[in-house]
Amino acid sequence: MAEQGILYIVPTPIGNLGDITERAVKTLAEVAAIAAEDTRHTRKLMQHYGIQNDVFALHEHNETQRVDAVIERLLQGDSLALVSDAGTPLINDPGYVLVHRCRERGLKVIALPGACAVTVALSAAGLPTDRFAFEGFLPSKPQQRRAKLEALKTETRTVVVYESPHRILHTLTDMNVVLGSGRQIVLARELTKQFETYLNGTAAELLQALTDDTNQQRGEMVLLIAPAQSEADVRDGPGEAAKRTLLLLLEELPLKKAAAMTAKIHDERKNELYQWALENKNNE
Ligand code: SAM
Repeated sequence: MAEQGILYIVPTPIGNLGDITERAVKTLAEVAAIAAEDTRHTRKLMQHYGIQNDVFALHEHNETQRVDAVIERLLQGDSLALVSDAGTPLINDPGYVLVHRCRERGLKVIALPGACAVTVALSAAGLPTDRFAFEGFLPSKPQQRRAKLEALKTETRTVVVYESPHRILHTLTDMNVVLGSGRQIVLARELTKQFETYLNGTAAELLQALTDDTNQQRGEMVLLIAPAQSEADVRDGPGEAAKRTLLLLLEELPLKKAAAMTAKIHDERKNELYQWALENKNNE
């Protein structure tokens, strides 16, 4: 029986064409063929590095159908490389279905280290890196996005998310409402490219910076959310003292006013108090 082939997971640059390893170039040249998210994109990259090889498409729309044929090739003894358009395959890119199936079939998978926007952004953002959570892209629908941010509000690890230029203002607006005015955010933009920028501040400060300079809304971007630290960050809902004050004030004042005053007295979030009062009104 022929020796089984190996599936190599090969990262490619995320902007700067210098960011590919010698081992990656050698692997792409030596495997029997390359499975690529976009064959035209990968051929251009190969041309740049002087690599000649067969390329076939493996993307999110055909991965499930193609996987059996790819497995068959590996079983027959062909080693193959998997690349995506940029960065590390499988990190918000196709490849999971194939790698999972390879593991099921006992086929060897070797991942090469290389460029990935998550680790580049984390390394230079200045937020804690000892533990982090990667959330991929936040949901595009506003309601779901806010619900996801609510769920992340008490996260005590640095949270990394990918973001797109046409949603960045909406996402920062939601972060401002949900995460509050205390939480530090870093926007890492155009990493490894000419206009690489790191902006840090609260969501409100970043919104202001992006409105003042609309160029900062362009390009590829990663958002990093600092870990929850303050008591209000970590706690789910308003504190007990604030709730008592709010209930007292509600005897004399309309909800909006009572929530605003309580927020000032206890350094709490107005929206959270408002919400808590609405939810608890019916239980009284
Ligand atoms: N597999 C890729 C990786 O390893 O980073 C990620 C692919 S995902 C489909 C594309 C997203 O990654 C972009 O929308 C952006 O959020 C982020 N990204 C990729 N390259 C970037 C760069 N040079 N600067 C900032 N973010 C980048």
